[in-house]
Amino acid sequence: MNRFSYIRPEKIDDAVKALTADPTGKIIAGGTNLIDLMKYNVERPTQLIDVTRIADLATIEETEAGDLRIGALVPNTDVASDPRVTSRYPLLSSAILAGATPQLRNAASTGGNLNQRTRCYYFYDPGTPCNKRKPGTGCPAIEGVNRIHAILGQSEHCIATHPSDMCVALAALEAVVHVTGPNGARAIPMADYHRLPGDRPEIDTTLAHDEIITAVELPAENAAFATNYTYLKLRDRLSYAFALVSVAVGLEMDGGVVRKARITLGGVAHKPWRRPDAEDLLVGKPAGQDVFAAVAERLLEGAKGYEHNAFKIELARKVIIRALTQAAAGNPQSQVDKRIR
Ligand code: SF4
Repeated sequence: MNRFSYIRPEKIDDAVKALTADPTGKIIAGGTNLIDLMKYNVERPTQLIDVTRIADLATIEETEAGDLRIGALVPNTDVASDPRVTSRYPLLSSAILAGATPQLRNAASTGGNLNQRTRCYYFYDPGTPCNKRKPGTGCPAIEGVNRIHAILGQSEHCIATHPSDMCVALAALEAVVHVTGPNGARAIPMADYHRLPGDRPEIDTTLAHDEIITAVELPAENAAFATNYTYLKLRDRLSYAFALVSVAVGLEMDGGVVRKARITLGGVAHKPWRRPDAEDLLVGKPAGQDVFAAVAERLLEGAKGYEHNAFKIELARKVIIRALTQAAAGNPQSQVDKRIR
């Protein structure tokens, strides 16, 4: 491991100042991804700015507008078990419980989950080229071992996927990410927070280096998904594995007719994958297999597989239809027994 300095500010402004002053400094909270990256010599920060003593970031509060504001430091476990989340946004709770292990969820923070990096094998191996780790060196995953890689939105420079479960649900719930930097605070819609690789795969998000996440806000109106929702995750083993394909669905139903729909895919792209035009196909229609199949078709338009992951396209089609069926029936996927209903 390389040498680095360590500070522990108690105010948001002090953390931002430290970050602004050091272009190779890094924020650390739970450390569940960053410490691994440092051990593998993938990340080499000169300074760690530990934000875990900033009390302002550690609470869950309801805003005047009725939105639910989750501080960046709130551990994943606390979010998943908070009664305001389980009653109004059970989709988020379910997605968090589908990920990692209890120990990791206890340590991992909300902000850190958003900023975790891909689990592409080559990215973690400094002995291989990788455009995300070292721009311009190439992407060995395209011709190599690519079982966990992207089928949508990839580029010739990178076919990595974003590994989070929580972010897939946040995208379906149309969460807003609040950040602050030297020029003040701003709000980033979840759909714009993560980016596709294009020709700059080393940049995962639209967060600037000198900004930190302060909170994630869940809109009050999408508490309407609390009855008809599901988070369905397919993976190589039933726990402690990243998604091959996952689907977050929130529906607002009027009898058997869909009034509003939000669907996001995980494990298939460099960011949680949403297509509003696919969601629109459901609006005003009775829930049923034909329209679910049309939605799957639209979501997977342009999908491209590689030697080891082409199976994901058909798998995703089936998982989308199954997830929509579960959500419409008000029969969400259990993250305890894990049998697919
Ligand atoms: Fe690197 Fe992306 Fe290629 Fe993986 S897929 S080797 S992260 S450039």
